[in-house]
Amino acid sequence: MLQDADILIIGGGLAGLTAGIHLSRENFRVALIEKHAYPQHKVCGEYVSNEVLPYLHQLGISVDGLHPSRIHRFLFSTVSGKTIESELPLGGFGISRYTLDDFLYKQALISGVSIIQSQVTDVQFQNDQFTVRTSDGKVYTSKLVIGAYGKRSSVDKQLQRNFILNESPWMGVKAHYKADFPDDLVSLHNFDGGYCGLCQVEDNLVNACYLTNYSSFKKHKNLEAFQQNVMSQNPFLKDFFSKAIPLFDKPLTISQISFAKKQPVENHMLMCGDTAGVIHPLCGNGMAMAIHSAKIVSELIINYYRSTNLNREVLEDEYTISWNYFFKKRLTTGRIVQSLLQRPFLASVLMSGLQLTPAMLPLLIKQTHGEPLVGNYVDS
Ligand SMILES: Cc1cc2nc3c(=O)[nH]c(=O)nc-3n(C[C@H](O)[C@H](O)[C@H](O)COP(=O)(O)OP(=O)(O)OC[C@H]3O[C@@H](n4cnc5c(N)ncnc54)[C@H](O)[C@@H]3O)c2cc1C
Repeated sequence: MLQDADILIIGGGLAGLTAGIHLSRENFRVALIEKHAYPQHKVCGEYVSNEVLPYLHQLGISVDGLHPSRIHRFLFSTVSGKTIESELPLGGFGISRYTLDDFLYKQALISGVSIIQSQVTDVQFQNDQFTVRTSDGKVYTSKLVIGAYGKRSSVDKQLQRNFILNESPWMGVKAHYKADFPDDLVSLHNFDGGYCGLCQVEDNLVNACYLTNYSSFKKHKNLEAFQQNVMSQNPFLKDFFSKAIPLFDKPLTISQISFAKKQPVENHMLMCGDTAGVIHPLCGNGMAMAIHSAKIVSELIINYYRSTNLNREVLEDEYTISWNYFFKKRLTTGRIVQSLLQRPFLASVLMSGLQLTPAMLPLLIKQTHGEPLVGNYVDS
């Protein structure tokens, strides 16, 4: 039996790494278990809202040295090529997950997080303590566990979380390209059964990432045929994919992306990032939410350990309340916009409405984003 972190984090994506950095900088002993080695590519649109910057600065982290693109414009196009463009209320930056996760991993190591490369296979909670088992036969114990293992994991199966019992039709595809694309723009292009986001990341690379319904995809032989027959009905995508030079041997894909509701606390584990709830990617806010949830959980854990009478129930209640307060409305708005876009008639009504009143678009974007993450929420 391996002892003995104050906090054990399952999953080293944005949520897990950020919480690890925050807590270890407050002198807690943090162990983080991640199943993959760094760096690695991930299916993601790679546009990060600037709302996270003040918090990253507070943690002593600056992404400037990674040379992200600086994005302040948003363009949306329908299948027929109608467009609408808007300034982004807060703006954001484009950075590959390959670079960003690896950077945070190194920051976590510097901060003293003990990072273990292995896959968590079992989590038990008994006698006010967690016992966590990994695929290499090791056993870890900890008083607190943060679940930051992303959208879908074997841990969800073990916990029998509701969403995992149902199949989800959504799949995601992503690749980097050499292409001529403005460095201050993130764009979203609708096609039958899904939408594709384009933005520039570091080194002038362009990331193309799309989400599609599997039933739309499976009528076609492969990704290339799908891109040519379905996505290219949108003139922007046709133009992009006909000129862009792919830089991956083949695109990365993930399936079974579920947007079903989840609980922020399960079996006493405090769930962070996508493990607590997945926002529709068209909102471009999942990464900011992952980082934001790390801030919330870390502040509450610090308060919990530093208060004179530790009370797990209060910690769990406060985390649930805070999580819902900050994120529930965004997830709901994301679901509504997503379901409008899935119906061509409603999508064109939405588009006409936005074209008539362009000021509505930044307001809509605001509904799916948060305010800059400034200061502490919890007085500890
Ligand atoms: C198609 C698509 C496009 C998107 N585009 C954007 C965008 O442009 N902007 C944006 O802000 N968001 C976007 N998102 C959302 C964003 O990618 C996620 O919200 C974000 O990655 C969540 O971070 P996380 O840390 O919660 O999870 P992840 O980054 O998925 O990290 C989870 C980690 O846990 C590890 N793990 C899993 N199971 C185990 C286990 N059993 N043991 C140990 N480790 C484990 C995984 O290897 C992984 O590294 C997009 C999502 C999709 C699907």
